[in-house]
Amino acid sequence: WFPYPSKIMFLLDLLDNLPRLQLSRPHLQLFIWVLKELGVPNVPSVDQLRGMQEKLREKCGGIETKRFQSDLGNIFYCNDLARLIAQNYSNPHTASLLQFYPEEPDGVTSELWHAMKIRNMDPDLLTPMYRKEGIDFYVKELAELKDGQLVIPIRWIIRQKQMCANAFLVTREGGYLRIHSDEEINVKAEDLQFNFLDLISISIHQMKLIVMTDGSKHHASQMPNQLRDLAEGEELYSSWVIAWADDVSGNTSKQMNPHKNFYVTHGNLPGQLLQQEFHVQFASTSPHASTAEQAKVIREMVNDSHKNPVRVYNAATGRMCRFRMVVPNLPADNPQQSEESSHIGPNGNCKCRKCKTGGNAHYVESAEGFHALHKVGELRTTEDTLTEIKAQLEVAADGNVSEVKKMQTSSGIKDKVAQGWIVQMIKKNKQLHVSHPQLSSGEIKSKVLEWLYESTDEPWNPLLNFKGLDPHRDTPVELLHTILLGIVKYIWHSANQEWSDSQRAKFALRLQSADIGGLNIPPLRAGYMIQYRNGLIGKHFKALMQLMLFQVHGIIDDPRYAVIKAIGALGALLWFPEIDNMEEYLEDIKIAIGNVLDSFDAVDGGRIIDKMKLHTLVHIPEDIRNHGPLVRSETEVFESFNGVFRLCSIHSNHQAPSKDIAIKCARMDMTKHLICGGRWPSTGGNEWVSAGKGVQSILHENKVIQTMLGWAPHKKPTPGSLVAHTQKASLVKLWVQWNEKMYSLPSEISPGENSSWKSYKGVYSQSGDECREGSWVVASPNPSFQYMGRIMAIIRNCNGPGALILIKQYHLSSILHPFTNCPVLSFPPPDNPWIAVHTKDVLFALNVQHDCRTWKCDDTGLRSLIQEREKTDRTVSFIEHQEDNTFILNIFAVHNACRLRRILPRSLTAPVPLHEDHYKFHCQIAEQVRSTRTGRRQANAERRAAKNAGK
Ligand SMILES: [Zn+2]
Ligand SMILES: [Zn+2]
Repeated sequence: WFPYPSKIMFLLDLLDNLPRLQLSRPHLQLFIWVLKELGVPNVPSVDQLRGMQEKLREKCGGIETKRFQSDLGNIFYCNDLARLIAQNYSNPHTASLLQFYPEEPDGVTSELWHAMKIRNMDPDLLTPMYRKEGIDFYVKELAELKDGQLVIPIRWIIRQKQMCANAFLVTREGGYLRIHSDEEINVKAEDLQFNFLDLISISIHQMKLIVMTDGSKHHASQMPNQLRDLAEGEELYSSWVIAWADDVSGNTSKQMNPHKNFYVTHGNLPGQLLQQEFHVQFASTSPHASTAEQAKVIREMVNDSHKNPVRVYNAATGRMCRFRMVVPNLPADNPQQSEESSHIGPNGNCKCRKCKTGGNAHYVESAEGFHALHKVGELRTTEDTLTEIKAQLEVAADGNVSEVKKMQTSSGIKDKVAQGWIVQMIKKNKQLHVSHPQLSSGEIKSKVLEWLYESTDEPWNPLLNFKGLDPHRDTPVELLHTILLGIVKYIWHSANQEWSDSQRAKFALRLQSADIGGLNIPPLRAGYMIQYRNGLIGKHFKALMQLMLFQVHGIIDDPRYAVIKAIGALGALLWFPEIDNMEEYLEDIKIAIGNVLDSFDAVDGGRIIDKMKLHTLVHIPEDIRNHGPLVRSETEVFESFNGVFRLCSIHSNHQAPSKDIAIKCARMDMTKHLICGGRWPSTGGNEWVSAGKGVQSILHENKVIQTMLGWAPHKKPTPGSLVAHTQKASLVKLWVQWNEKMYSLPSEISPGENSSWKSYKGVYSQSGDECREGSWVVASPNPSFQYMGRIMAIIRNCNGPGALILIKQYHLSSILHPFTNCPVLSFPPPDNPWIAVHTKDVLFALNVQHDCRTWKCDDTGLRSLIQEREKTDRTVSFIEHQEDNTFILNIFAVHNACRLRRILPRSLTAPVPLHEDHYKFHCQIAEQVRSTRTGRRQANAERRAAKNAGK
């Protein structure tokens, strides 16, 4: 049970450190009492347990919780970021999955390191070296290839799964070396032979000095790469730390207990893993210190790793290595991201944190100004923003409040940290005028500025001065708050506000009857969604985005219907986990965004002026190019970690919440690390050791513990494997009975007429979907063609090998459905509709809806209501489909959207612009907006005048 003194200590420590099931002290005392009552030997008291945990934390390289005090005087605690990230290196479950180099995607873009942010990052911030057969090659150093060619690698990059480098060619001219730095060539790492140090010793040996031509001398001055000194002969990597921050309540009840929190994930891990709570790590919290104050501490820790790289055991190589940290992006919700970019937020005239578009009412209501809101404006940069903040501070030192406000309104820059100082400076200025009337305004101004820079060296957002980070560009648009809780929510309210109760009931009934197969969402509770229509959350809106289109006919006007259609089309694209063809994809996204904005304009033209979430959409293409698929920047996993944080908070005694919670989280991280087999330096420091077998086996053997830790083993169901019915539901029939429709069979299968076949409940598709009888699927017996259809039965031969999926094939039309713009599936298809395929030939599940609008299906069906798993005497109605031959393929389904587009002809999926001439359309809308708003302003002015006259 190493490093625990006993099994009982280990189990109690584990029990005490489950993130999702935290025990209060009385609970723990109760457990201990029960154990003692049962006569278990050596049961410790709670205090003894706490003492052991503290010792363990010191002994086993636990994460240190450090105290900080900000410039504003706030005290808070932060867990050592370097050790948090280091755990992923010394943990055998994660170490081998870490990717350290940017990669040129070989087809599919799915990860952070495929995207341009990392690929274009300053090579000094990326992993600078590559070790080949024990030789470390560094960027910016001379190296020799096997064929004798000299090169200088500039940037390591993986191309077609091979380590390569962009490099400068070096030629010999006379006795000199000339570096051709105007052109980069591609060099394969396997061709490298000698590194710079080798070349030096060879040259000394041969008494030939390495001398550069005059034009190339500045390169020579950078050799050897200074980072070699920091690495001290060990491998030196870069870790991408993704930092999330937000306001979180520390209470589970509705009463707010405000905290500002920072969590991080390790961006070098595959994105799929980062969706698991297990990989979210707590950094800091404080009820007092703002996220900017905490960010400063995080930045210091990151910067420190550049001076002293973190030394850690790498479980993947079995060697010691070092790493530096870089923060590539900041996922968060919109208000937080605004704050991180020193932006004024949603109430300013310039509402965009990323660009300078927008302005006063006169401008944004003009044709030009209105049109400009639909495009990316002049991009903000950290330099401009800093200059603006400094200018505001100067004016504040002068005591000019109104001028500062004016500057903030016109620029859209209002830095939270600076604002704190601005308020104090203005006060100071006033005081000085009173206390020192003899001083001139200029003298007072200098005194105020003097005071400011004595109080702080950085009176603004620390993220503006963070190597490798530009908060304007690196705050990727977030799907949950911008799309689901933004646009989908808006259209949902806008639609159902106008509905009568009977229309709402109709919608609920239709939605409840919708087929949710292939959507990978939990069962809908449509009645609930209508009843609590003003309190829906992300998952409801995600379902509505994909399904609403098929349920609103007859109860919605055309303009709103167009918005629902446009947002459905965009949503399916935005949730892509993988991107095959980046340029085509981004073009599609641009059209889909244009359609959402234009259709929205037709419903409510002023909305894009008032709400920043609409304009923000236009920045999505660049965000995807820079940071990869947007699902990778989703904040859901961080938000769900808030649940763990809240439990920590309610179990702390609230005297020192920042410290207590940080310590608790550090303890949980350590227990997690130990049971994962993660290593730590032994007391002497020479060896890195891991926990004993007993401790490590728990994670693999105990499913409950896995769930409690938020850990999902990386295991997909085997494609083609079957899911059995319960004994009662399973059906055995002869082949002739199953084969009444005369299915066309795979050539190598010829079942005997009287062989018995047993039915199964489900089959796993290639994509991992569990498909059942009635599921719509794509099946492909050979790569050249695919069937779309419905599973009629899943059966297996009782006496011999062989299992078959019986499918009713539908025909995919070449034209789109007139209302939904989705492809149509009709029956019968021109060739044999009855197909049997092997179980492994099922590719993935589809979502298909009946064409109820055309067939006027109504609520004529009745079925018993089920309560407490029993049929009651009460009945509920449902939509009864009028026929079984015309269906609509839901291309707005998010799940498998990317797989579906791979097999459909492009003519069926390529988005089509709603308006060819955007500008003309925007001019019309701007005119409407102007006239309604001018009218409204006039009416308001008149009302005010009348009121004043009345006084
Ligand atoms: Zn913008
Ligand atoms: Zn129908």
